Amino acid sequence: MAANFETKAIRTEINKSENKEHTTPLYVTSSFTFENPEQMAAAFSEEIDRNIYSRFTNPNNTEFIQKMCALENAEDGYAFATGMAAIFNTFAALLNSGDHIVSCKSVFGSTHSLFTTFLPKWNIETSYFGTTADSDEIESLIQENTKILFVETPTNPGVEVVDLEKLNAIAKKHNLIFIVDNCFATPYLQNPINFGADLVLHSATKLIDGQGRVLGGIVVGKKEYIREIYLFARNTGSSLSPFNAWILSKSLETLALRVEKHCENALKIAEYLEKHPKIKSVKYPFLKSHPQYEIAKKQMRKGGNIIAFELKEGLEAGKQLLKQLKLASLTANLGDTRTIVTHPASTTHSKLSSEERNAAGIADGLVRLSVGLEHYEDVIEDLEQGLN
Ligand SMILES: *Cc1c(COP(=O)(O)O)cnc(C)c1O
Repeated sequence: MAANFETKAIRTEINKSENKEHTTPLYVTSSFTFENPEQMAAAFSEEIDRNIYSRFTNPNNTEFIQKMCALENAEDGYAFATGMAAIFNTFAALLNSGDHIVSCKSVFGSTHSLFTTFLPKWNIETSYFGTTADSDEIESLIQENTKILFVETPTNPGVEVVDLEKLNAIAKKHNLIFIVDNCFATPYLQNPINFGADLVLHSATKLIDGQGRVLGGIVVGKKEYIREIYLFARNTGSSLSPFNAWILSKSLETLALRVEKHCENALKIAEYLEKHPKIKSVKYPFLKSHPQYEIAKKQMRKGGNIIAFELKEGLEAGKQLLKQLKLASLTANLGDTRTIVTHPASTTHSKLSSEERNAAGIADGLVRLSVGLEHYEDVIEDLEQGLN
């Protein structure tokens, strides 16, 4: 197998059927048949490697998982109905009641709810460090019962970058499972396993599909952990549908091309925003002004497609901008071909007070832009008329 990313994304395939189709067919079947009871028994006892039931495995899911493993340099993986299913099943499979997690404070909203609202039901607590915390600060949070070190980088919605090499050193020193949500970077821009991560999570809903069509999630990494996650998942039923797996496997064939263009557009737009008089600050990992620019350069191939910027005039200016934009979509997704804009203070975080938002790192004038694949000049024109 060729070693280059694009070739692996296109040429990692399951075996062809007797029809010798050029492109992988869709296996819409809930179960698979056996020639005799002995064979069925052997499949159930895992003496032979066979598909049994699509809640466990399906050829389309297998192809998607194999591709993602090839792209993330992972030993094994398992695919889920959504990114959150991947995250929940990973924690639920690996943790016992009484275990403890150390996590970066800036994580995806539903991940935050999982840590603060749901895992405590099973007596699993989480301690948090800030994106710029030093090693001593992070190590001071580790307890005897700490089992997992979790991080998401770049972060949502602040687009901060956390040093994977530094975190891995802490995880190895304290014998923790190091888990990275690599959603914003995609395997094309960042491979956390190369920095020592044990497991890598993705919401495939975002840039992996990249066209706003299907939901999906995946975890890849060390075989011993994937085995536990697989056994938990096949019995609790949150596997990815074969149809979505088929779409996502096809999507990966163009991931490199799409993400290259997303990054090219995003950098041009970030440079434009940085010069705009109504904007206080712009955060984009590959802008020299980004506080973690050196770390971004170390661990990312390019800057990704998400830009966070802050309007000088705060809440009202944010509302006004959202009202004025004509091209950019107002929607909850990101990583689509279409440019998407969100203003957390007046939408997702509007129920919090200004002080509470600031404590969560969400300034009233913060706008998150998920740069799409339209011509960048048209996106800039839309922002220009919106800002003025
Ligand atoms: C969207 C997202 C998730 C959750 O994925 P779903 O597919 O929506 O369940 C997890 N982490 C990050 C960083 C995300 O952006």
